[in-house]
Amino acid sequence: MAEVLIDSIPLKDPKPFTYRIPTALQGRIEVGSAVLVPFGNRKGVGGVVTGLTEEIKTEFEPKDILEVLSEGVLPSLMKPLLEWVAAYYSAPFSGVWLAAVPKGILKKKRKKKNKSNEPLELPPVLTPDQVKVLGQIEKNSKSLFLLHGVTGSGKTEIYLRAIGENLERGKQAIVLVPEIALTPQTVSRFRARFGERIAVLHSGLSGGERAEEWHRLRSGEADIAVGARSAVFAPLERLGLIIVDEEHESSYKQDSAPRYHARTVALKRASLEGATVILGSATPSLESYEAASRGEFALIELPRRINGRPLPPVEVIDMRQELREGNRNMFSRSLKKAVEGILERGEQAILLMNQRGYSRFVLCRACGQAVRCPRCAVSLTLHKGKSEYLICHYCGTRALSPSICPSCRSPKIRHFGVGTQQLEETCQELFPSARIARLDRDTTSRKGSHAQILDGFRDGESDILIGTQMVAKGLDFPRVSLVGVLAADLALNLPDFRAAERTFQLLTQVAGRAGRSEIPGAVIVQTYSPEHFSVQRAKEHDFEGFYHEEAESRRELSYPPFGKLINVVASGTTLESTQEAAESLAASLQRRGVMALGPAPAPLSLLKGRHRFQLLIKTEELESARQVLRESLSEQSSPKNIRFAVDVEPLNLL
Ligand SMILES: [Zn+2]
Ligand SMILES: [Zn+2]
Repeated sequence: MAEVLIDSIPLKDPKPFTYRIPTALQGRIEVGSAVLVPFGNRKGVGGVVTGLTEEIKTEFEPKDILEVLSEGVLPSLMKPLLEWVAAYYSAPFSGVWLAAVPKGILKKKRKKKNKSNEPLELPPVLTPDQVKVLGQIEKNSKSLFLLHGVTGSGKTEIYLRAIGENLERGKQAIVLVPEIALTPQTVSRFRARFGERIAVLHSGLSGGERAEEWHRLRSGEADIAVGARSAVFAPLERLGLIIVDEEHESSYKQDSAPRYHARTVALKRASLEGATVILGSATPSLESYEAASRGEFALIELPRRINGRPLPPVEVIDMRQELREGNRNMFSRSLKKAVEGILERGEQAILLMNQRGYSRFVLCRACGQAVRCPRCAVSLTLHKGKSEYLICHYCGTRALSPSICPSCRSPKIRHFGVGTQQLEETCQELFPSARIARLDRDTTSRKGSHAQILDGFRDGESDILIGTQMVAKGLDFPRVSLVGVLAADLALNLPDFRAAERTFQLLTQVAGRAGRSEIPGAVIVQTYSPEHFSVQRAKEHDFEGFYHEEAESRRELSYPPFGKLINVVASGTTLESTQEAAESLAASLQRRGVMALGPAPAPLSLLKGRHRFQLLIKTEELESARQVLRESLSEQSSPKNIRFAVDVEPLNLL
């Protein structure tokens, strides 16, 4: 018998179907074979064999496989990787297959592509720092590198050279970039150097284009896969190098099953296939930097910008002081003056209002403290409704919303939250002559509008670009000389143990947008917590200082990278049954010696009509905790409407 995953049917919960292997095909079918099978009333549809079994699992008589289309859709050497991903992330193997192989790959008839004969660009002269880093990569006996380079230090050139060297050895390469950075600019940079040897995989391509690019890689016609998260599964047989650019980016983690992290998978794939990995970032994740400090990765650094341009000065504005001096506007006096300055000089400004959805916390305007959970050190989320209270989304602790600040006794404590739209209105009031563009989820929901807004700004159609964290990433505008962060507190007080890290990354990345050309740049950060170390270290461009302070508090509370997490979300149609199911699972885990925080209502406590509770397992032994969880889940006899979703090493606990 063979388990076959049907290729062309979009299924919500992909399950393989059982087919019989006829005698004529015996011995020719293995896991990974593409086959033709009858399905429903259709005679022959494509599918992929995901497993071979002895037993018949269905109550129906299984049908015969009609034909073998190819003996291996993916290179057979990738099978151990997919099995590992399924086991590591507690995900079904068939789901991992679907993540690895684009839909419709089997039906695709290949068409010839026109070869372009554009001359390839010559590489630029390297800076001394770049020469040093490339030497370190070449000479090191290690094959895992963490490239820590400040914004504008020329990391991409390092990638290009490393790929070139890799190709010369007859090897292939994968370049992972965050989806949002996968712009035509990024791609053209790689294409200019390597021409037709590049294949691009991303969600902006149509199914046909994607299949075409995929086949170019599978056939060996292209040697370099450039793409977002799923390109880590690019079907290459001679893999020599994987680059993960902006390795700290949270978009590398898939937020639906299989919930894999492309960086983790890249490291595993490299070790299975003997490839080198370069992780690059201006703000490495705690996980990667900690691994480097243990010697697992070789740390290589680009500490200076190219052409000797300085990192922009960062001015931190104490909004408590503004309030004391009678300024209640969301613009501090300094920021207002700075914007007036750029308008006079005909330059451009980016104003950032970080708005990751969850700005429902209580903040004291006098001392800048948010109300936090004493056990979990994350900020409590304000719950509004019939009764108003604060809740910790990790452990479930509840508290009344205080009327005076627990830290300083000031009565100036209340709900905090502003949006980009409000910022735009205030901005237009203060600067009536300014031309303002806004980039956020509301203005970019239409396809292509994201690029349109950015192109318009680059062409000088507007003076001020207002946006969410979307504007902080990888953009390069030569006329931007001012970056203003309106409320760093929104990032600092996310209900997430990574809030400080996110703040540091955000401020560093956004500061990196200023002063990238001959016009010097300035950065102004407004906050009620100017003394917070993530703000201070970002101001000083001091990553290492930030790392040490943050690592210490993570270690104390056994948060990653020092402890491992597994998040389990129970969801169901009624509140009571969902809570009951989550509590029963928690009790079962406890009986087996695995402690879990919660259950607590998930931050999105009601999603698409389903109530959600989460359980957070903190462990030092990921493997055994996963095993115990599997046992506990299998003994649950909860009602049919209850579903459990397991997220191993979660990134966003929302
Ligand atoms: Zn206070
Ligand atoms: Zn808590």
